[in-house]
Amino acid sequence: MDLELGPADADFRSDVRAFLDEHLSEELRAAVAASTGTFCDLSAMSRWHAILNERGWVAPDWPMEFGGPGWSDTQRHIFASECALAGAPPTHTFGIRMCGPVLIRFGTPEQQLHYLPRILTGEHRWCQGYSEPGSGSDLASLKTAARSDGDDYIVSGSKIWTTLAHQATHMFCLVRTDFDVRAQAGITFLLIDMSTPGISIRPIVNIAGDHEFNQVFFDEVRVPKINRVGDENAGWAVAKHLLEFERGGNYAAGLRARLGWVRRLAVNSQADDESFRCRLARAEIEVTAVEMQERRVISALSLGEAPGNAASLLKLQGSELTQKLDELAIEAVGPRMSPVDAEADVAMGRYLYDRSVTIFGGTSEIQRNIIARTVLAL
Ligand SMILES: Cc1cc2nc3c(=O)[nH]c(=O)nc-3n(C[C@H](O)[C@H](O)[C@H](O)COP(=O)(O)OP(=O)(O)OC[C@H]3O[C@@H](n4cnc5c(N)ncnc54)[C@H](O)[C@@H]3O)c2cc1C
Repeated sequence: MDLELGPADADFRSDVRAFLDEHLSEELRAAVAASTGTFCDLSAMSRWHAILNERGWVAPDWPMEFGGPGWSDTQRHIFASECALAGAPPTHTFGIRMCGPVLIRFGTPEQQLHYLPRILTGEHRWCQGYSEPGSGSDLASLKTAARSDGDDYIVSGSKIWTTLAHQATHMFCLVRTDFDVRAQAGITFLLIDMSTPGISIRPIVNIAGDHEFNQVFFDEVRVPKINRVGDENAGWAVAKHLLEFERGGNYAAGLRARLGWVRRLAVNSQADDESFRCRLARAEIEVTAVEMQERRVISALSLGEAPGNAASLLKLQGSELTQKLDELAIEAVGPRMSPVDAEADVAMGRYLYDRSVTIFGGTSEIQRNIIARTVLAL
C-alpha cells in the first residue's frame, strides 16, 4: 500500500488548488461558511455547479464518454478533498453522484442522451425518493404503488425526508409494482418529473429551523413507462447500486476543515482548558485515522481491489466524529451563545443539524450490523 502522492498526482493537486484560488469567490465561500446543513443556498450551489461544468470537472465519477474528466481514483479523491478544505459549495449532488451513475450503468441510450447532459448543465436537479413513513432502514418494505396502465404507470403513495424536493425538477423513485412476491422482488425504479399533476410537497422544518427536507405525496401520478430504469420489478439492484455512491464518500477533508473551524472558535475561549485541549487532540487523532482509512481505500481501488466494507466503516467513523467536533464547537462558543453572534449561531445550527448524520445514508446501528456481519463474521 502506497500512501504518498506521486509527482503526477502532486502536480494535479497544484492544478486543482490554482483553479480553486481563481474561481472560488469569497461570496461562494461565505455561503458555505454560513450554512449549517449538508447543502447551502441554491444560487451558490448552482453557480459553483456551472463553474465546474464549464471546466469539465462537475462529474468526477462519470466516464469521459458521458462528460466525466477521466480522472483516476486518486485524482478524484484529491479533487474532493481540496474542494472540502477550500470550503467550496456542493454541486447538485443527487444528479451528479447518484442518478447520473445509475443511468450510466442501467439507463437506456435514450435516457442517457436525454438526462445526462441536463444533469451536467444543472438544468435538471434531482431528489431521492426512497424513504417512506414506515420504510427507512427496512427500505424494501416500501409501499408507494405503481399500477400499470397502458404505456404509463399510475403512482400513488408518499415519500418522506426527501431532501431538496422543493428545489428539484425530477425525482428518482422506488415504487412497488408487485405486492405478492418477496419484498425486494416487487420494486421498480422510476424517473419522475416533479411538475407532473398529482404531486404535492409538504415542507418539513428540521430541528435547526431549516427547510431542507420534505414529505412528497403522489395522488394518481401518471409516469410514462419509458421513464423506468431497468426492468419492472428489478429496481432493487438499481437501488442498491445507488446506495454504494451515497455511502461511499469523502469524509476526511470535511472533518479536517471542521477541526480547523473548531480550533479557530476555541482559540480565545479554551486555550487554558486542559480537558478541552485533550479532547480536541483526541479528535485530531481520530480525523487522522479516518484520513488513513480513506487513503487505504484509494490505494486498494487504484490497485484494482474492491474497497470491501470500508464504506460502512467510514460512514460510521466519519458521522460520529462530526458530532464530536460539533460538541467541541458548542463548548468553545458556549460563553457567547446568542442568535446575534453569527459564529455561535452557525455552531448551534450545525450541532443540531448533525444529529441527523448518524441517521441518513444508513443509520449507525445499520452500519454496525453490516460491520458485524462482514468484518467480524457475527
Ligand atoms: C437529514 C436527512 C435527510 C434525508 N434525506 C433523504 C432523502 O433525500 N431521500 C430519502 O429517501 N431518504 C432520506 N432520509 C431518510 C433516511 O434514509 C432514513 O431516515 C434512514 O434510512 C432511517 O430510516 P427511518 O428514519 O425510517 O428510521 P428507522 O428505520 O425507523 O429506524 C429507527 C431506529 O431504529 C434503528 N433500527 C432500525 N432497524 C434496525 C436494525 N435492523 N438493527 C438495529 N437497529 C435498527 C435505527 O438505527 C434507528 O435508530 C433522510 C434522513 C435525514 C435524517
